[in-house]
Amino acid sequence: MKTIGLLGGMSWESTLEYYRIINNSVKARLGGSHSAQCLLYSVDFAEIEALQHAGEWDALTQAMIAAVKRLERGGADCLVICTNTMHRMADQVQASTKLPLLHIADATAAAVKDQGLDTVGLLGTRFTMEGDFYRGRLERQHDLQVLIPDQAGMDAVHRVIYDELVMGVIQEASRQVYLEVIADLQARGAQGVILGCTEIPLLIKQADVAIPVFDTTAIHAQAAVNWALTS
Ligand code: GLU
Repeated sequence: MKTIGLLGGMSWESTLEYYRIINNSVKARLGGSHSAQCLLYSVDFAEIEALQHAGEWDALTQAMIAAVKRLERGGADCLVICTNTMHRMADQVQASTKLPLLHIADATAAAVKDQGLDTVGLLGTRFTMEGDFYRGRLERQHDLQVLIPDQAGMDAVHRVIYDELVMGVIQEASRQVYLEVIADLQARGAQGVILGCTEIPLLIKQADVAIPVFDTTAIHAQAAVNWALTS
């Protein structure tokens, strides 16, 4: 088994899910008392969030590269960035290291295609929904059509992530807001919806939604286990 390098803490609420899913998956596949070989470097998210909202993406890129060096020194065999948003600097991070970066959008696109879908809605932070780094990758590298919420929908989805989910606050009223946004995406042609922020699966479950949902935390964590057990 290879050692999975987790770059987490963005937020720790979802990193906890990565750790749980990765270990459960190794246990399910290898049985007995098997568990995952992994290293976790976890940041102080308050610093990250402040830089994101100040548009300080170069400073964030440097912070990510410095964190990767720590994982490298610890003996990680691969990199798993435990957030969709911070894949914004995935190319620069990958260029800074020989460790393979397991990209969350690639794993998610494979899961969407496995279900035979070609048009999906995307929920995430405003950075993920509006930027090209994530949507563009899904569209150009994976031939998917990606729909995002209207401005009011994007505002609501972004606000709930930063004001509630990253602090572990789960509210029924926010779940209803998300379900309305998803219903609108479905009415516009989405065959499924990507929960493209690693905390959203804490709020929205498949049972809440009529169309397939793609839990990027679980998909990414499973991809890491596949890699660790087969490389
Ligand atoms: N975990 C979130 C994501 O998957 C948002 C937090 C962050 O900005 O990294 O995008």
